[in-house]
Amino acid sequence: MRRMNDKRWMWIGIACGAVLVVGGIWIVLSASRPGLVPASDSTEVATGASIPTSTATSAAMSTRVVALTLTTPSQPLDFDADLAYLRILEQCGFGARPTGSMSNRLLGDYVRATVAAYGWSVEVQEFVYRKVAGRNIIARKGKGPVVILGAHYDTRPYADYDPPETRNQHILGANDGGSGVAVLLELARVLDMDKVPYEVRLAFFDAEDRGNLDGWPFSVGAEEYAKVLEVDPKYVIVVDMVGDESQTIYWDRNSDPELNARIWDVAAELGYARYFIPELRWRMIDDHLPFAKRGWKAIDIIDFDYPHWHTTQDTADKVSAESLGRVGRVIEVFLEGPGG
Ligand SMILES: [Zn+2]
Repeated sequence: MRRMNDKRWMWIGIACGAVLVVGGIWIVLSASRPGLVPASDSTEVATGASIPTSTATSAAMSTRVVALTLTTPSQPLDFDADLAYLRILEQCGFGARPTGSMSNRLLGDYVRATVAAYGWSVEVQEFVYRKVAGRNIIARKGKGPVVILGAHYDTRPYADYDPPETRNQHILGANDGGSGVAVLLELARVLDMDKVPYEVRLAFFDAEDRGNLDGWPFSVGAEEYAKVLEVDPKYVIVVDMVGDESQTIYWDRNSDPELNARIWDVAAELGYARYFIPELRWRMIDDHLPFAKRGWKAIDIIDFDYPHWHTTQDTADKVSAESLGRVGRVIEVFLEGPGG
């Protein structure tokens, strides 16, 4: 990890303080309001249930947003691996974030406020699946053919790959859920739209990760978005589980081969050939599929060789800033570079 300058540390100090304040307020609110159900007790908010939000929580979060927004405003920005890692810590600070839970809802609000602070216009797509309320958050910036960058922000409600005694616990999803969102949020900060010849849509999908549980499929949120999409996207790039410390990202067999090759070429040019391995390995069921099956060029950038997948061990200490940085940098260069 490269060294950060003193000013950066100051901002990170302020940011961490804000995160602690948010956490404290959240714990107090969770304990004191009978209408709020801690994520560990329930994963669902029934359709039509009102979801209270806290002004105090929003204010503390705004402090955090402002802190990050103020970094080096007049210079061209590069994807910052350490700031991306900070986004993992933030998300874990919300606790487990399964679809329909209060922590999921609050994280959604936070994502929305963050991208808006970076100058993106934001739309929200509410949906209901099996009486559970879900919500996609779509941020747009730029002009040209549409490129969708997608990541799911929900986390798996049960650790179904844990030993039997802990299998019904939530997972924290530092990597599975957290890493894709972290990469997208840092891209929201740094993408230079004067260089990007596309309308970029950052799609934060809900309800990806309840698949094969309680009769749910995967990618409910991505399906909801794909079915109402009003344009033919040029590319759909989904980022999921990219933070593993020992990073190996292979081509997914359900992804568009041409787009796979182009992205992996960028990685090789950046010197990341050790991590982006241009060989087919897994066949992924993920948020790219609803787009791929409609004939659009869609890929999944995923490191599926992750030993803590769908376990309670998927925590922030298993995620590496450098891994997030490589993936973010590849996408940044792909979008900003000549003929991207
Ligand atoms: Zn998952």
